[in-house]
Amino acid sequence: MILRDFFMYLSENRTLNAAAQRYGLKMGAQSVVAGTNIKETIDSIKELNNHGIACTVDNLGEFVFEKSEAIAAKNQILELIQAIHDHGVDAHISLKPSQLGLDIDIDFCYENLKEIVALADQYGIFVNFDMENYDRLHPSFELMEQLNNEHQNIGTVIQAYFHESDENIEKYKNYRLRIVKGAYKEPANIAYQDKAEIDAKYIKLIEYHLLNGKFTSIATHDHRVINHVKQFVKTNNIPNDKFEFQMLYGFRKDMQLQLAKEGYNFCTYVPFGRDWYGYFMRRLAERPQNLTLVTKQVFNK
Ligand code: FAD
Repeated sequence: MILRDFFMYLSENRTLNAAAQRYGLKMGAQSVVAGTNIKETIDSIKELNNHGIACTVDNLGEFVFEKSEAIAAKNQILELIQAIHDHGVDAHISLKPSQLGLDIDIDFCYENLKEIVALADQYGIFVNFDMENYDRLHPSFELMEQLNNEHQNIGTVIQAYFHESDENIEKYKNYRLRIVKGAYKEPANIAYQDKAEIDAKYIKLIEYHLLNGKFTSIATHDHRVINHVKQFVKTNNIPNDKFEFQMLYGFRKDMQLQLAKEGYNFCTYVPFGRDWYGYFMRRLAERPQNLTLVTKQVFNK
């Protein structure tokens, strides 16, 4: 718990984030971040596609407080969509509303998102709204609902640790949903703290959406959950085209390949960009064993 809190604290440190941007991918981050630019990222996507794995691509970026930073992020995502289309790769977009200006001005954020979603829609590319901390949860849902009036190529994430996730999954069951346990540090009055409780809720939400929802992305590295889902879809005759498994780039690579080989739809979450620091620290917070990635990189020079 202490290590988790320590890495969460580091992930929120703006000064360290800015320092990390000045240096390329360091400290083992290159194992879990696909590249710093679009070209490198398209190459990584092609390699995964060759193994029958689709990708959801995230232009990393946090601590956006200036409109100019949000506009730069929007332009980068538009360029990425264009590259996905031009190269004909099997990939869609994951984005964080805060990177597009949610914390600055919600109307400004809406306009940025609209441009992105419209271009992606034109090319038949899906856009997933990643979910961040609780303060941003409802504004993000609202933005998605508003955009859905014109574009249906959007979906979002349900985080199992929130007490309210039962209501949210029901409310948004007609969207394509990624279901996760939840990555941010949240207080006990809004989120479960106990791992067993979160795991149980996670399974419940997945089963609900598989039976009642549109399309389900089961995003986890937990083999127990994956095995449970395999059995559940079989028992309930849920066809493979109603769901996919997702994992993060660089994690449990053998299992990613194996699931794709077994014929399941598999999608790797591919983060890229210079702003890798906060993402990387959160991965260390989730699983301090990931520190071996760091030590290997430091000592295998
Ligand atoms: P954990 O609960 O961390 O681990 C359970 C068990 O699985 C472990 O005890 C271990 O046995 C096994 N295991 C886990 N990882 C590994 C590993 N690397 N190697 C070997 N065994 C392992 N969170 C958000 O809040 N918002 C988002 O938008 C979001 N998007 C995500 C997208 C994807 C594709 C993924 C995979 C995760 C996303 N998350 C998101 C993070 C998520 O909420 C969890 O914090 C994270 O996935 C850790 O939980 P877990 O279910 O993977 O496994």
